[in-house]
Amino acid sequence: MKSVKFSKEDQAAIMKSLDEQDFETFISYFRNTDLLVECEYMLTRQKQKLAPTECAQFTIGKQSYYVQTTEMIKIRIQNEWAGFVKGRIYYKAKDIDKYDRDFQKLAECTTKDLFLTDLTRWFLSTTFVQKIKVDPIDKFVEGTIVPDEDHFYTRAEYNTELQEFNPPINEWLTYCICKRLYDPNEGYILCEFCNNWVHYTCSGKSDKELKNISKIKFICLTCVDQNKRKKQSNVQEYSTQDGDSTKIRSFNTTHGKKKK
Ligand SMILES: [Zn+2]
Ligand SMILES: [Zn+2]
Repeated sequence: MKSVKFSKEDQAAIMKSLDEQDFETFISYFRNTDLLVECEYMLTRQKQKLAPTECAQFTIGKQSYYVQTTEMIKIRIQNEWAGFVKGRIYYKAKDIDKYDRDFQKLAECTTKDLFLTDLTRWFLSTTFVQKIKVDPIDKFVEGTIVPDEDHFYTRAEYNTELQEFNPPINEWLTYCICKRLYDPNEGYILCEFCNNWVHYTCSGKSDKELKNISKIKFICLTCVDQNKRKKQSNVQEYSTQDGDSTKIRSFNTTHGKKKK
């Protein structure tokens, strides 16, 4: 094995980059030397294998990072190997610039929403917390997967430079008459009339009625409303066509009189 000799200046710079936790610079000194080895996986605290493209949570101080891992290496420092993992950073909704202004819809996101960004960062393997799963939100639709503690969902990727989502927010999955973003942890009931999923909380049904959910023939409030209006306009049309609009006119007249 060829040995690597760093100059005094290099050694000082290496120590400085390590102190500042500037791993990008630190690692660059070891590239193409026999002190740096690429790894196919890292053994996690739970003795699981974490491989590139898998997702993980790292914590530095109080700050948690959720990443999609892209590269793993180990570096020999004074006879010991130190592990490093590079990952693409996931943003949570609140990490996104202009959260309150241009992207108000983000307020409907949950703590389980992750957006893969263009930012990368190296982590010391000792700051690894746990493996996580991240799946497209569509996978959670209709309860095929129930999200658990370490299972996150994603609606889009986020480009921090352009400050753009892909796909854009107006294409994200919404449900219900309230048009809120789909949330896998909320209960939904299918309207048999318009075939739309409606939040339990927007259904106008009591908890007791919802408990017998399989027995309910559910029609959402929008459909009930539209039906009512249709019936009304049918009466109007019928009356006009028929030339007999007495009922409606008299209603109007009575109404007008009352006002006076
Ligand atoms: Zn709703
Ligand atoms: Zn409906």
